[in-house]
Amino acid sequence: MAKVIRRVAWSLAALIVLTLALLGSMVRVEIHANGDAVAAPARAVSADRTAALQEVPVATGASADMRASGETAVADAGQPPHLVLPVQGVKAGDLYDSWGDPRGDGTRGHTGIDIMAPGGTPVLAAAPGTIEKLYFSHGGGGITIYERSTDGKWSFYYAHLGGYAPGIVEGKQVAAGDPIAYVGDTGNAGAGNHHLHFGVSRIEAGQGWWQGTPVNPYPLLAEAQSGG
Ligand SMILES: [Zn+2]
Repeated sequence: MAKVIRRVAWSLAALIVLTLALLGSMVRVEIHANGDAVAAPARAVSADRTAALQEVPVATGASADMRASGETAVADAGQPPHLVLPVQGVKAGDLYDSWGDPRGDGTRGHTGIDIMAPGGTPVLAAAPGTIEKLYFSHGGGGITIYERSTDGKWSFYYAHLGGYAPGIVEGKQVAAGDPIAYVGDTGNAGAGNHHLHFGVSRIEAGQGWWQGTPVNPYPLLAEAQSGG
Protein backbone atom coordinates (compact mmCIF):
# COMPACT_ATOMS: atom_id res chain seq x y z
CA MET A 1 0.00 0.00 0.00
CA ALA A 2 2.83 2.34 0.89
CA LYS A 3 4.36 1.54 -2.48
CA VAL A 4 1.19 2.63 -4.31
CA ILE A 5 1.01 5.89 -2.34
CA ARG A 6 4.66 6.61 -3.11
CA ARG A 7 4.09 5.92 -6.81
CA VAL A 8 1.06 8.23 -6.90
CA ALA A 9 3.04 10.91 -5.06
CA TRP A 10 5.91 10.64 -7.55
CA SER A 11 3.48 10.80 -10.47
CA LEU A 12 1.85 13.91 -9.02
CA ALA A 13 5.25 15.52 -8.49
CA ALA A 14 6.25 14.71 -12.06
CA LEU A 15 2.97 16.11 -13.36
CA ILE A 16 3.49 19.37 -11.41
CA VAL A 17 7.04 19.72 -12.75
CA LEU A 18 5.86 19.09 -16.31
CA THR A 19 2.99 21.58 -15.94
CA LEU A 20 5.34 24.26 -14.60
CA ALA A 21 7.79 23.59 -17.43
CA LEU A 22 4.98 23.85 -19.99
CA LEU A 23 3.67 27.11 -18.47
CA GLY A 24 7.21 28.47 -18.46
CA SER A 25 7.71 27.74 -22.14
CA MET A 26 4.32 29.27 -23.00
CA VAL A 27 5.28 32.48 -21.22
CA ARG A 28 8.55 32.56 -23.12
CA VAL A 29 6.72 32.01 -26.40
CA GLU A 30 4.44 34.96 -25.63
CA ILE A 31 7.43 37.18 -24.86
CA HIS A 32 9.00 36.17 -28.16
CA ALA A 33 5.76 36.85 -29.99
CA ASN A 34 5.53 40.33 -28.48
CA GLY A 35 9.17 41.04 -29.17
CA ASP A 36 8.76 40.00 -32.78
CA ALA A 37 5.58 42.02 -33.23
CA VAL A 38 7.66 45.15 -33.91
CA ALA A 39 10.03 43.48 -36.35
CA ALA A 40 7.36 41.49 -38.14
CA PRO A 41 6.04 44.31 -40.43
CA ALA A 42 9.56 45.13 -41.60
CA ARG A 43 10.10 41.52 -42.55
CA ALA A 44 6.72 41.46 -44.27
CA VAL A 45 7.67 44.55 -46.31
CA SER A 46 11.03 43.14 -47.37
CA ALA A 47 9.32 39.88 -48.27
CA ASP A 48 6.83 41.85 -50.39
CA ARG A 49 9.65 43.73 -52.07
CA THR A 50 11.48 40.52 -52.79
CA ALA A 51 8.29 39.07 -54.21
CA ALA A 52 7.73 42.18 -56.34
CA LEU A 53 11.30 42.04 -57.65
CA GLN A 54 10.95 38.38 -58.44
CA GLU A 55 7.61 38.92 -60.12
CA VAL A 56 8.88 41.49 -62.61
CA PRO A 57 10.81 39.11 -64.89
CA VAL A 58 8.05 36.51 -64.65
CA ALA A 59 5.26 38.98 -65.39
CA THR A 60 7.10 40.48 -68.37
CA GLY A 61 8.15 37.06 -69.55
CA ALA A 62 11.77 38.17 -69.64
CA SER A 63 14.25 35.59 -70.76
CA ALA A 64 16.88 34.17 -68.47
CA ASP A 65 19.43 36.25 -70.38
CA MET A 66 17.60 39.49 -69.60
CA ARG A 67 17.34 38.54 -65.96
CA ALA A 68 21.05 37.75 -65.90
CA SER A 69 21.93 41.10 -67.49
CA GLY A 70 19.65 42.85 -64.99
CA GLU A 71 21.61 41.32 -62.15
CA THR A 72 24.85 42.40 -63.78
CA ALA A 73 23.53 45.97 -64.12
CA VAL A 74 22.78 46.11 -60.39
CA ALA A 75 26.29 44.93 -59.61
CA ASP A 76 27.83 47.46 -62.04
CA ALA A 77 25.86 50.34 -60.49
CA GLY A 78 27.92 49.99 -57.32
CA GLN A 79 30.72 52.24 -58.57
CA PRO A 80 30.05 55.72 -59.92
CA PRO A 81 32.38 57.09 -62.60
CA HIS A 82 35.64 58.70 -61.66
CA LEU A 83 34.95 62.38 -60.95
CA VAL A 84 36.66 65.64 -61.71
CA LEU A 85 36.36 68.36 -59.07
CA PRO A 86 33.41 70.43 -60.33
CA VAL A 87 34.66 73.90 -59.33
CA GLN A 88 37.64 75.41 -61.10
CA GLY A 89 40.66 75.98 -58.85
CA VAL A 90 39.31 73.92 -55.92
CA LYS A 91 41.40 70.97 -54.75
CA ALA A 92 40.24 67.81 -52.97
CA GLY A 93 42.01 68.96 -49.81
CA ASP A 94 39.84 72.11 -49.72
CA LEU A 95 36.63 70.12 -49.38
CA TYR A 96 34.55 69.77 -46.24
CA ASP A 97 32.25 66.75 -45.90
CA SER A 98 28.85 68.35 -45.23
CA TRP A 99 26.82 65.22 -46.06
CA GLY A 100 24.03 64.77 -43.53
CA ASP A 101 24.53 68.17 -41.90
CA PRO A 102 21.20 69.55 -40.63
CA ARG A 103 19.29 71.71 -43.12
CA GLY A 104 15.87 73.36 -42.98
CA ASP A 105 16.16 74.00 -39.21
CA GLY A 106 17.05 70.35 -38.65
CA THR A 107 14.05 68.98 -40.55
CA ARG A 108 16.27 67.20 -43.09
CA GLY A 109 19.85 66.16 -43.72
CA HIS A 110 22.11 67.67 -46.36
CA THR A 111 22.18 65.38 -49.41
CA GLY A 112 25.24 66.66 -51.19
CA ILE A 113 28.41 68.68 -50.68
CA ASP A 114 28.79 72.45 -50.55
CA ILE A 115 31.91 73.64 -52.33
CA MET A 116 32.77 77.20 -51.38
CA ALA A 117 34.12 79.49 -54.13
CA PRO A 118 33.79 83.13 -55.20
CA GLY A 119 30.75 84.05 -57.30
CA GLY A 120 31.43 83.63 -61.01
CA THR A 121 33.97 80.80 -60.62
CA PRO A 122 33.47 78.29 -63.46
CA VAL A 123 31.53 75.15 -62.58
CA LEU A 124 32.82 72.09 -64.46
CA ALA A 125 31.13 68.85 -65.46
CA ALA A 126 32.22 66.27 -62.87
CA ALA A 127 31.98 63.40 -65.37
CA PRO A 128 31.08 62.85 -69.01
CA GLY A 129 27.34 62.85 -69.64
CA THR A 130 24.33 64.69 -70.97
CA ILE A 131 22.78 67.92 -69.68
CA GLU A 132 19.39 66.44 -68.90
CA LYS A 133 17.52 69.30 -67.26
CA LEU A 134 18.02 73.01 -66.66
CA TYR A 135 15.76 73.70 -63.71
CA PHE A 136 14.95 76.77 -61.61
CA SER A 137 13.80 76.33 -58.02
CA HIS A 138 13.26 79.68 -56.29
CA GLY A 139 13.18 78.34 -52.71
CA GLY A 140 15.60 75.45 -53.26
CA GLY A 141 18.53 75.05 -55.59
CA GLY A 142 17.89 78.26 -57.54
CA ILE A 143 19.48 77.93 -60.98
CA THR A 144 20.37 74.25 -61.34
CA ILE A 145 21.66 71.62 -63.76
CA TYR A 146 20.88 67.91 -63.72
CA GLU A 147 23.45 65.95 -65.72
CA ARG A 148 23.04 62.24 -66.50
CA SER A 149 26.18 60.07 -66.71
CA THR A 150 26.97 58.49 -70.07
CA ASP A 151 25.91 55.04 -68.81
CA GLY A 152 22.64 56.55 -67.53
CA LYS A 153 23.08 55.17 -64.03
CA TRP A 154 24.12 58.34 -62.21
CA SER A 155 22.82 61.88 -61.94
CA PHE A 156 24.93 64.90 -61.04
CA TYR A 157 23.18 67.92 -59.57
CA TYR A 158 24.69 71.40 -59.63
CA ALA A 159 22.78 74.05 -57.65
CA HIS A 160 22.80 77.71 -56.48
CA LEU A 161 24.38 78.57 -59.84
CA GLY A 162 24.92 82.17 -60.90
CA GLY A 163 24.13 81.23 -64.50
CA TYR A 164 24.82 78.76 -67.29
CA ALA A 165 27.92 78.67 -69.45
CA PRO A 166 27.41 79.61 -73.12
CA GLY A 167 25.97 76.77 -75.21
CA ILE A 168 24.64 74.78 -72.26
CA VAL A 169 21.21 73.49 -73.27
CA GLU A 170 19.20 70.39 -72.42
CA GLY A 171 20.44 67.39 -74.40
CA LYS A 172 23.99 68.71 -74.82
CA GLN A 173 26.74 66.16 -74.27
CA VAL A 174 29.62 67.30 -72.09
CA ALA A 175 33.04 65.90 -71.24
CA ALA A 176 34.50 65.78 -67.75
CA GLY A 177 35.93 69.21 -66.92
CA ASP A 178 33.85 71.13 -69.47
CA PRO A 179 32.65 74.50 -68.12
CA ILE A 180 28.87 74.29 -67.71
CA ALA A 181 27.98 77.13 -65.33
CA TYR A 182 29.17 79.66 -62.76
CA VAL A 183 29.15 79.57 -58.96
CA GLY A 184 26.35 81.70 -57.52
CA ASP A 185 24.07 82.17 -54.52
CA THR A 186 20.65 81.60 -56.11
CA GLY A 187 17.77 79.75 -54.45
CA ASN A 188 18.08 79.25 -50.70
CA ALA A 189 21.88 79.52 -50.60
CA GLY A 190 21.62 82.85 -48.78
CA ALA A 191 22.60 86.15 -50.34
CA GLY A 192 26.36 86.34 -50.79
CA ASN A 193 26.91 82.74 -49.62
CA HIS A 194 28.45 81.77 -52.95
CA HIS A 195 29.00 78.04 -53.29
CA LEU A 196 28.25 75.09 -55.51
CA HIS A 197 25.88 72.53 -54.06
CA PHE A 198 26.92 69.30 -55.78
CA GLY A 199 24.85 66.13 -55.54
CA VAL A 200 25.34 62.60 -56.89
CA SER A 201 22.41 60.20 -57.20
CA ARG A 202 22.18 56.58 -58.28
CA ILE A 203 19.45 56.30 -60.95
CA GLU A 204 17.52 53.12 -61.62
CA ALA A 205 16.32 52.29 -65.13
CA GLY A 206 13.27 54.35 -66.05
CA GLN A 207 13.75 57.00 -63.34
CA GLY A 208 13.60 60.68 -64.27
CA TRP A 209 15.99 63.53 -63.51
CA TRP A 210 14.08 64.43 -60.34
CA GLN A 211 14.44 60.90 -58.95
CA GLY A 212 17.26 58.68 -57.76
CA THR A 213 19.00 57.82 -54.50
CA PRO A 214 21.53 60.41 -53.29
CA VAL A 215 24.96 59.19 -52.25
CA ASN A 216 27.67 61.14 -50.44
CA PRO A 217 29.85 62.86 -53.08
CA TYR A 218 32.66 63.58 -50.59
CA PRO A 219 34.49 60.22 -50.78
CA LEU A 220 34.17 60.35 -54.59
CA LEU A 221 35.62 63.88 -54.76
CA ALA A 222 38.28 63.25 -52.11
CA GLU A 223 40.16 61.26 -54.75
CA ALA A 224 39.07 63.43 -57.68
CA GLN A 225 41.48 65.44 -59.75
CA SER A 226 41.29 69.20 -59.83
CA GLY A 227 39.43 70.33 -62.93
CA GLY A 228 41.63 73.35 -63.48
ZN1 LIG B 1 24.21 72.21 -50.20
